[in-house]
Amino acid sequence: MSILIQGGTVVSTKGQRQLDVRIDGEKISAMGVNLPVDGANVVDAKGCYLFPGFIDTHTHLELNNGMTDTADNFTTGSIAAVAKGTTTVLDMATPDRGHSLQSCLDAWDAMAKGKSSCDYSYHMSLIEWQPGFVDEIKAMAAKGITSFKMYMAYDNLRASDADIYEAMKAIKAVHGMLGIHCENGDLVNALQKQYLDNGLNAPKYHPITRPNILEAEAVSRYLTIAALADLPVNIVHLSTKEALEVVRAARQRGQKVFVESCPQYFLLDDSLYALPGFEGAKYVCSPPLRQPADEAALWEGLEAGEIDTMGTDHCDFNYETQKPLGKDDFTKIPGGLPGVETRGELLYTAGVTSGRISPEQFVGVMAEHAAHQFGMYPQKGIVQTGSDADIVIWDPAEKNVISSQTQLQNCDYSAFEGFQTQGGPREVYLRGTKVAASGQIIKEKQGKFVARQASEYTFNK
Ligand SMILES: [Zn+2]
Repeated sequence: MSILIQGGTVVSTKGQRQLDVRIDGEKISAMGVNLPVDGANVVDAKGCYLFPGFIDTHTHLELNNGMTDTADNFTTGSIAAVAKGTTTVLDMATPDRGHSLQSCLDAWDAMAKGKSSCDYSYHMSLIEWQPGFVDEIKAMAAKGITSFKMYMAYDNLRASDADIYEAMKAIKAVHGMLGIHCENGDLVNALQKQYLDNGLNAPKYHPITRPNILEAEAVSRYLTIAALADLPVNIVHLSTKEALEVVRAARQRGQKVFVESCPQYFLLDDSLYALPGFEGAKYVCSPPLRQPADEAALWEGLEAGEIDTMGTDHCDFNYETQKPLGKDDFTKIPGGLPGVETRGELLYTAGVTSGRISPEQFVGVMAEHAAHQFGMYPQKGIVQTGSDADIVIWDPAEKNVISSQTQLQNCDYSAFEGFQTQGGPREVYLRGTKVAASGQIIKEKQGKFVARQASEYTFNK
């Protein structure tokens, strides 16, 4: 049965236009003004935007961090994602040390396959360098996993500069895209030890021991290595004014750099760590929430088109039962926030409803740029004939209040509790199937693995 979505305003980075959209099977089969009904199921979308299904470039939907498992898993996290418009997630597949990339891929497939309610792929993490990874990276790319993740912080995850350089050469050979968590891990360790040695163990010391300059330094070093390897690269969850300045300078020198950030760095600040008792633990994530001056710089960067993608870094742990692992030591608080559900409503409200960015810019950072950057365009990231029918019918008048009581994320708190939103998803289509309506899932477990192409930015370079 065909579906004809009538009267909605289709938005891409290039503009917006009121167009009917016809869906046949999993694909958009036609677009135009006053398309014939021709036996289709008609959906009235007047007054609504038709956005391409959102792509979350950064999730940890199901992860054991070495101490405990995330509150969400692929089943619950993907429901929360797709119900609010995210039809594709790029999850961080993270192997154990000494293990092959293939064994990690098998583990992630076992978690996602048949369980995910949104489409998915993975950034394959390289937490060390093994010479065998040259062939393993080729094998991953052949299977449609064309992006990779590395860390400059966390002792159990971080690679040396030389390891990063070796990885870059191998990634370049397959035209892949690398993203790195940029913080100077050695100096974070030193600062954490200094504070703990002095008996300073509360959540409020989390941001103090991960200051802005440690992100900026790591970004600078990363971009130096990337220049040496001549590889366009991505910076994940960029959070500071200083790091954005480093990016700006590199771009002025002609270096190709992509920037991802997340809603929490635009909407929350580090004063939350000083909340009474242990409540600051709710906001422990790395990089930490920053200061209002950083939020202002990120907004300016977003408005100016300096930020390419918005992910969430969704990685949630319950406040009552899991965050207390760090009750007496802030460095042991499981790090991460819930967020895969709320990205669209939050960024639309604070960005588009407020008038700071246009609907076209919103679509760029929520979907279209990611599709280009991560080898999914034009299958994903755009509403056009021939593309997957991943469509969000978005009502700009829809009002909501974010609350842990009503959220679909399987977590006992929300970092955005009480936020009032304007603009929300009325219906969500995943490859032609209506999977959500009014913010609730109506058809589960429809997600499929997305085999991705080489990144067009590294391929055409
Ligand atoms: Zn992350």
